[in-house]
Amino acid sequence: MTLDVAWAMRWMRCTAEAVAEAKTGLTELDRVIGDGDHGENLDRGFRAVTAKLDGLESPPAQVGDVLKLVATTLMSSVGGASGPLYGTAFLRAAKVTGLPELDAHGTVALLEAALEGITARGKAVVGEKTMVDAWQPAVDAAESVASGGGTAHDALVAAADAAAAGAAATVPLLATKGRASYLGERSQGHQDPGATSTALILAAAVRASE
Ligand code: ADP
Ligand code: MG
Ligand code: MG
Repeated sequence: MTLDVAWAMRWMRCTAEAVAEAKTGLTELDRVIGDGDHGENLDRGFRAVTAKLDGLESPPAQVGDVLKLVATTLMSSVGGASGPLYGTAFLRAAKVTGLPELDAHGTVALLEAALEGITARGKAVVGEKTMVDAWQPAVDAAESVASGGGTAHDALVAAADAAAAGAAATVPLLATKGRASYLGERSQGHQDPGATSTALILAAAVRASE
């Protein structure tokens, strides 16, 4: 399946469904090492995204137009740390996807731009127990698939798998960014909520492309 506008819209609807289903679990993770609102924050945001998509009179022309709508909606509805972070991620991704459909390199460019938005905004690096610990391995995995001649779908699958592994690997980490860092060593032994939601978002991108 091509990664076109219809895919981008399905991606967001699949994400909204996945986030609604995982809402309690995400909030529970955030209750342990944060303030217990990550599931609610994202559910509110992606519901708003779905409502925006439902209200469109005609589909946007380019993948980037869908991502821009997502970015502005998340920025104004999610709140917390993750709202501006995901908002910036989708805004940066929108700028590099001004095409009707993505090839493998376009997919890498989308993921890379999203990661750059998150690091520009939040200044976290790998190993600090944040969503960057899911995004960075996702970008690396997609890059290696694309440079090996894989398809856009292959790159997306590799990214989603790597994000899930990256999220799981946040469990033993000590948080040094965001609210979880207030806990110091007590942040260890728990999975990061934002890395977990990143893995959900990328898994939804794969489902939407099948
Ligand atoms: P808040 O912490 O303001 O309540 P959320 O609960 O919605 O916001 O989001 C928390 C998630 O945001 C964390 O689990 C972490 O993954 C991510 N996060 C927090 N600060 C940063 C940062 N500086 N860089 C990257 N990700 C961050
Ligand atoms: Mg929170
Ligand atoms: Mg909060």
